[in-house]
Amino acid sequence: MSTPFALALHGGAGPIRNSDQSREEANMSALLDQGRVMLAKGAPAVDVVVTMIYGLEEAGYYIAGKGAAPNRDGKFELDASIMDGHKRRAGAVCALSGFRSPITAARAVMEKTPHVLLAGAGAAAFCEGAGLDRVDDPAAYYTPAASSLAGTDALSHGTVGCVALDQSGALCAGTSTGGVLNKMPGRVGDSPLIGAGTWADERVAVSCTGQGEFFIRAAVAADVSARMKYAGMSVDAAAAGALADMERQGGDGGLIAVDAKGRIALPFISHGMRRAACDGAGNVTVMVFR
Ligand code: ASP
Repeated sequence: MSTPFALALHGGAGPIRNSDQSREEANMSALLDQGRVMLAKGAPAVDVVVTMIYGLEEAGYYIAGKGAAPNRDGKFELDASIMDGHKRRAGAVCALSGFRSPITAARAVMEKTPHVLLAGAGAAAFCEGAGLDRVDDPAAYYTPAASSLAGTDALSHGTVGCVALDQSGALCAGTSTGGVLNKMPGRVGDSPLIGAGTWADERVAVSCTGQGEFFIRAAVAADVSARMKYAGMSVDAAAAGALADMERQGGDGGLIAVDAKGRIALPFISHGMRRAACDGAGNVTVMVFR
């Protein structure tokens, strides 16, 4: 008997209350439909996660992929990671410049190298060798929408992420980001760090969004799994507990998680979190605020 599939996306925990998010909701909703069809046809969770995050990167509406914002030196440095819970393998890139899809690069690190994380110039050289799509003119490629946000707080968390459970029972999580606005050159957040911003094993898949420094110090994504494993918590209780621990240290944000039974948790402690989820039974959620 096949496992009931489940899928969740996020587009960051940064939207300020009452801001118009209809464009992002429509985008997430269309991607969710595409992902649901893929999972219903038996696609592997890894393929679905990469397809969803690629779509979010390409939209230009989030601080990830085409919508990424530059660092203080005006340079675009992007981070992404993916973890395949079934095989317990992972790949990630950080401070990557000059390439279009960080999630595609992260997948290539996972599948084509013996490593988990490649950074900066080394990551770019690997992407070049792997023939990944380049961004030769960053000023022309990245969306003005993102640059116009610099200096404001409006979308300071615009990371994107996806978690999926496929019909074979495999879980996968991925996260992609341009990082926080006005970041220092070389700054790397939680998104490309396995265990901090992204985690997947045989129990749960997690993708986080928020102030990365706090998520790193609380190892939030892996903490969700640890709470389920050692304390026997449900995915809801584990996700809420891991976020509360991070909040106690002064951070904010949210996460998406799905467990091996297809139960989905979408908690956040920020004003809102762009999120969308569906399961095999036809339940669909697309929301930003509470
Ligand atoms: N967590 C990301 C980072 O710190 C930011 C975000 O979630 O929007 O790089």
